Amino acid sequence: MISTSSSSPKTQYFLDLEDRFGAHNYHPLPVVLNRGEGVFLWDVDGKRYFDFLSAYSAVNQGHCHPAIVAELIEQAKKLTLTSRAFHSEGLGEFTAFITDYFGYEKVLPMNTGVEAVETALKLARKWAYDVKGINHDKAKIIVCANNFHGRTLNVISFSTDPTAKNNFGPYMPGYEVIEFNNIPALQKALQDKNVAAFLVEPIQGEAGVVVPNSGYLSEAYSLCKEANVLFIADEIQTGLARTGKMLACDFEDVRPDILILGKALSGGTLPVSAVLADDKIMLTIKPGEHGSTYGGNPLSCRVSIAALKVLKEEKLAENAQIQGEYLRKKLQDLNNPHIAEIRGKGLLNAIVIDHPKPDAAWDLCVQLKENGLLAKPTHGDKIRFAPPLIISKEQIDDCVNIISQSLSEVY
Ligand code: PLP
Repeated sequence: MISTSSSSPKTQYFLDLEDRFGAHNYHPLPVVLNRGEGVFLWDVDGKRYFDFLSAYSAVNQGHCHPAIVAELIEQAKKLTLTSRAFHSEGLGEFTAFITDYFGYEKVLPMNTGVEAVETALKLARKWAYDVKGINHDKAKIIVCANNFHGRTLNVISFSTDPTAKNNFGPYMPGYEVIEFNNIPALQKALQDKNVAAFLVEPIQGEAGVVVPNSGYLSEAYSLCKEANVLFIADEIQTGLARTGKMLACDFEDVRPDILILGKALSGGTLPVSAVLADDKIMLTIKPGEHGSTYGGNPLSCRVSIAALKVLKEEKLAENAQIQGEYLRKKLQDLNNPHIAEIRGKGLLNAIVIDHPKPDAAWDLCVQLKENGLLAKPTHGDKIRFAPPLIISKEQIDDCVNIISQSLSEVY
C-alpha cells in the first residue's frame, strides 16, 4: 500500500487501486488528479495545483485547450479510424498541413514518441542501404550517452541508463554511444564509413535538461553532412515551442534530415507522433515495410492540426522564451543554498538540488505538492520545471513563491 500522511481517504482509495491492480512500472507522486484546465490541475479532493511538468511537455498548449478539445469532439462524432487500408480526408489534409508547417516534403505519422524514434531509425537504415550503399546489415547509428528516446527493446539497446536497460537483453546491435556535447567524439565516430545516422536530442530532457554548448548542433550537423550521414533530431520533448522556438534546432538554424515529433503534437489529448523528411529519405520505405493501425488516423490528424495552429496563434514559442527567462531569473534571485544549478531554455528547465539527503529532490516535490505545485524529480537530484507554455508572468511569480516557501519548509 502506498501511503502518505497527508493523503485523504479518497486519494488513498485510488492510490490503493492502482497499487493493487496496476503494474509497478512508475513511481508517481501521491496525488490523484481528475481535472485540468490551462496551467492548472485539480485532485480528487478539489485541490488546485500549478502543473510544472506538463505531462513531460505533452501539454504545451495547456490542459484541455478549448480549440483542441472542440476539434477532438467534432471529429470523434464523424470518423475516428479507417486504418491505412483506406484513405481519409483527415490524413490528406494533415500531411499537407504539417509538411508545410515544418518545411519538409513528406511526413510519416505514428502514435507514441518511441514509435516515431523507431520509424526514424528504420528510415535511416533503409536509406543507408538503398541510397548510401552501405553493405547489407552493416549500418551503424551514432547516439549520445545519457540519451532518452523511449523504452522499446531496440531503443533501450542503446540507452546508458542501467534502470532502463539491465536484464532486458539481448540487445539490438548497430549503435555506437558517444559523449553528448562532444564534437571531437562525433568526428572520430564519423570516420567509420558504415555510419548511417547521428541521433540526438537537442537538449537532453530526461537526463535533467542538459543544454549543450552553443554551436554544438550546427557543428554536429555540418560534420554529418561532410560524412554523408543523416542528422536525426529527436524533438519529442524539446520541439513544438517548448524551448522558445518552434524547434530547439531552430536556435542554430539546423534543419535535421529527419525530424521526430510527438507529445504536444496533440496538445495532450491523444498519442500522436510524426517523422518528417524529404523524398530522398522517406520514399526509401515502400508499402508494407512500416506502419501502424492507428498511425495517421483521422481523429489524430484533425487534433494535431488544431494543436499546431494553437502554437502559432497564441505565440507560445515567444511566451516560452519570455517566461522561461523570467522564471530562471526569479529562481536565481532566491539565492537558495540548496539550489546548486538552474538551467534550461525557454520553459524547459531544471534545478539541481544540493542537499546531503539522498531523497532531497523527492522530498521537495512532495512539499511543492502540499503547497499546490506539481513537479517531479529526474535522475535523483534534478527537478524539471516545465509548465504549460500559456503561463503568465503573475503565475510564474506565484509559482516561485511556492518554490521558495517549500524550500524553506523542507530543508
Ligand atoms: N524521445 C524523447 C526525447 C522523449 O523525451 C520521450 C519521452 O519522454 C520519448 C522519446 C518517448 O516518447 P513516448 O513516451 O511517447 O514513447
